[in-house]
Amino acid sequence: MHLSSSEFRLKDAEERFRDAIHDLERHHADADPGSDCQCDHIDHSCIAHALGNLCQSFLLSYGVRVGIGIFLRAFKLARSQSYSSILDLKQLVSEKDLIVREEACRIGLLFGGFTGSYHALRCFLRKFRKKETPLNPILAGSIAGLSILALDDSSRRRTLALYLAARLAQCAYNSAKSKNKFHLWGSHWGHGDSLLFSLSCAQVMYAFVMRPDTLPKAYHDFILKTGPVAEPVFKAVRDSCRGFPIDVLSLSAYLSNKKGFESTSLVDNPSIIPCSIIHPDTPSCFIHNGTAATKTFRKTFPLYFSLTFVPSVVLHLQKFLKSPASIFWHAFNGAVRSTIFLSAFVGIFQALICLHRKVAVTDHKLVYWIAGGISALSVLLEKKAKRGELALYVLPRAGDSLWYILINRRLFPDIRNAEVLLFCVSMGGIMYYLEKEPETMASFLRGLLRRFLASRISNVSSPPRNNLSYTYLQSLGAIERSSSDAILDKNDS
Ligand SMILES: [Zn+2]
Ligand SMILES: [Zn+2]
Repeated sequence: MHLSSSEFRLKDAEERFRDAIHDLERHHADADPGSDCQCDHIDHSCIAHALGNLCQSFLLSYGVRVGIGIFLRAFKLARSQSYSSILDLKQLVSEKDLIVREEACRIGLLFGGFTGSYHALRCFLRKFRKKETPLNPILAGSIAGLSILALDDSSRRRTLALYLAARLAQCAYNSAKSKNKFHLWGSHWGHGDSLLFSLSCAQVMYAFVMRPDTLPKAYHDFILKTGPVAEPVFKAVRDSCRGFPIDVLSLSAYLSNKKGFESTSLVDNPSIIPCSIIHPDTPSCFIHNGTAATKTFRKTFPLYFSLTFVPSVVLHLQKFLKSPASIFWHAFNGAVRSTIFLSAFVGIFQALICLHRKVAVTDHKLVYWIAGGISALSVLLEKKAKRGELALYVLPRAGDSLWYILINRRLFPDIRNAEVLLFCVSMGGIMYYLEKEPETMASFLRGLLRRFLASRISNVSSPPRNNLSYTYLQSLGAIERSSSDAILDKNDS
């Protein structure tokens, strides 16, 4: 075996480079004594690491929000049959029609602010307390949770805080269950998620019909827009349920532009609001329920599709570039299935309301609670994995309505910014579970949080020095092995 002088020099240089890297790593280790309390971002300073994460999360979440806005705008243009205008950038993304900038900024500040300050606080606590205990992620998460103040609407903050509190409860429950400390009766039953969803929907639909003031406005408007019945009719239903006289004037004003309706059938104090008022467009309950379901499908598909497709592109760009067609197909399929579920929900709810009017002569508010619970069973049309997600999504809304009723009846003190406190506590707990017991967290949430935190803090058994120099050493070793193999081969022949 004979090495030419240039090959020899190259080998020598590699050798010295490797030694230099080892020295550098040793130096880093010396500067940070104790293997537990050193940062795992040795190629950046702590400040650069935090700022980099802040910017990355800001841009990601900003991008997701703007992308969803553009998609919804495109669907709107497509529905008005102006297909050419979709390609016209001016119509698609003009400031006049695409009003997402402020909201996108707020969402970007929420995610970016949380990620950046979380990383900064983690580094600070690691250095300041000189040890790495579970208290570090809890403290860092709680303080970074103040970034929720980037949202200006307190009802949205409350919704988010309750959602994360439900997620924290899920983690705590899973953790206790895995340690055999606590076991909810019947939790081995496969449809617990559907039951939870059904109970939450019962409360939400009841609140929607009877106590609309207890739902966040945006959420109330979403249900109203998704369903086929107009607000004046709901008001009449509410009044007649409570035995109040109904507002005949506003109701007949609404009904007057519906064809085929005689206002003579309106009375001051009906025991029940009949089908002819609930669906004045058609006398047939069957047709009404059918159109309600199909209309819901057409109305919500764009929203569901944008909500599934845009995040999967922006957050997993590389995956998308590798197989764009399959990501598109996956999002399309998921959106169709979710839209079918929601349409069935609306159709069944309407059908139950009509059915009640066929068999009963008086109205009762519990009818809406029960109808909500039964129609929510349409969640069985969704994928099993999604049912639990949906349950945990609706549960906070039910809790929200309950929270409001409790404060309203003065059973619960009205603390200012209580939702900020709840969010901070929840984030502290969630960051603890993410770092210390990630298997207790729903994989959807875990993946999302790690995506935003740039997956630096996972406790998977990856080598701690998984950086450029480490990869370099690895590949150097591989080259060396293959070249020595080649040399051996040559010698054999
Ligand atoms: Zn650091
Ligand atoms: Zn009917």
